[in-house]
Amino acid sequence: MFRLALHWQILIGMVLGVLIGIGLRAIGTRQSSLPQESLPPGVAQVEFQDSPDEVTIVVTTESGDVSTYVVGGAIPDAGAENTPAVFLPTLKKLSGDAPEIAQAFHLHGRSWGRWLADGSNRLGKLFLRMLHMVAVPLIVTSLITGVMGVGHASRLGKMFGRTIGYYLLTSLLAICTGLLMVNVFQPGLKANAQPAGSEAPVVSGNLGETLFEQLETLVPKNPIAAMADGKFLSIISFSLLFAIFAVIMGGRNAEIVRDLFTALFNVMMRITMAIIKLAPLGVMLLMIGVVATQGISVFQSLAWYMLTVVCALVFHACVVLPLILKFVAKRSPVEFAKAMSPALLTAFSSASSNGTLPVTLTSVENRAGVSNRVSSFVLPLGATINMDGTALYEAVAVLFIAQLHHGENLPIDQQIVVALTALLASVGAAGIPHAGLVMMLIILNAVGLPVEMQGIIIAVDRVLDMCRTSVNVWSDSCGCAVVERLQTGETN
Ligand code: ASP
Repeated sequence: MFRLALHWQILIGMVLGVLIGIGLRAIGTRQSSLPQESLPPGVAQVEFQDSPDEVTIVVTTESGDVSTYVVGGAIPDAGAENTPAVFLPTLKKLSGDAPEIAQAFHLHGRSWGRWLADGSNRLGKLFLRMLHMVAVPLIVTSLITGVMGVGHASRLGKMFGRTIGYYLLTSLLAICTGLLMVNVFQPGLKANAQPAGSEAPVVSGNLGETLFEQLETLVPKNPIAAMADGKFLSIISFSLLFAIFAVIMGGRNAEIVRDLFTALFNVMMRITMAIIKLAPLGVMLLMIGVVATQGISVFQSLAWYMLTVVCALVFHACVVLPLILKFVAKRSPVEFAKAMSPALLTAFSSASSNGTLPVTLTSVENRAGVSNRVSSFVLPLGATINMDGTALYEAVAVLFIAQLHHGENLPIDQQIVVALTALLASVGAAGIPHAGLVMMLIILNAVGLPVEMQGIIIAVDRVLDMCRTSVNVWSDSCGCAVVERLQTGETN
């Protein structure tokens, strides 16, 4: 039976969500008042006016005092003539400041449009919860399987050090490129949209202190508690440690661990793929919520966001990696790219480094002439932990979300936290479609951004996933040439 490819389904879900969201905005304004029997003591009247961009609530007490709350509208300049109303950026803020009034609005004042938008937003968040649900087991099993694939401890020597060195260096370079571009392009500040709900100004902390805190989380006091609490950095460091020592120990124990985790990883992959199949519905529901409450100005930024990610990926793949290939591996980048083209195209169409691995292995060995000894070590490990494209994308996406949310750039120390967590997130990401999305939750948590804002970028994730996966595979392949050169340089 004919079935539309998932990315088309997601795109259709997105378009439908946008159209329904616009429709809900068109439902227009609702005016109502709190029923007599629900009025709190001492209050004579509560009137609501709910329009897509602004909610006004007027409370009149029995003694005739009037207080007005305006939520979401333009906030008057400080210093402008005193207005008697209280201006608030979001309904969430109203719930914090005046919970009874917020509750009354939710029960009696919402327009149909807002009621439906809130409902679909809530349902859409179920999809995000599912992604959250698989994140921890997926990371643990994927990392342990990747490292255990190395096979024997004797291979964990110099080659391991060089390979990891290459992975870390190129991923960091990719992240720097991403951060640079997102600071220059500022995609999240392009649409003149209202900040999506920053409650507090972004405060810059002490960099040394922040970094040391990250270091501390790499050494969890209790790894099981870290898993239960979803402390991703701790989970990644402990899983790596566990796998490395299992490989060093070798023998029957290592075999059991490898078989067990490979089986668990396969199951987790199946579950994740099944959840991803719900993406069209999830995207549609989240889009309805976003468009109905924020309007379509959000898309102007989205085009800039995609442009930023693509420009940064192109720069990394066509400038940074070829330079390393030319000067460290002493290979012609053009020839090497031609040899790797089957793998790069498969990566682009499948959006999965793991799925592409067999093609990458054969292309590296048969077409680019790298020895099996190097490729069978560098590539399987790379497919799991070396993801330059993903690291770059994570950094750009999180900064973009921060720009949208706060209406300004993150301060430099927070950007450094983003860079380091993006590095670890890319190490932990499984080589399957959309894995980067799951891992982004780590970074959003690390810098205190709301995870539901991911809803905005999910819609365009597939196409960016295709691009970043090609870069991931390209970097793994270049890594083979570099490690081989360093190994032979030593034997000569
Ligand atoms: N799809 C990517 C890969 O397989 C991972 C990601 O989602 O960034 O390499």
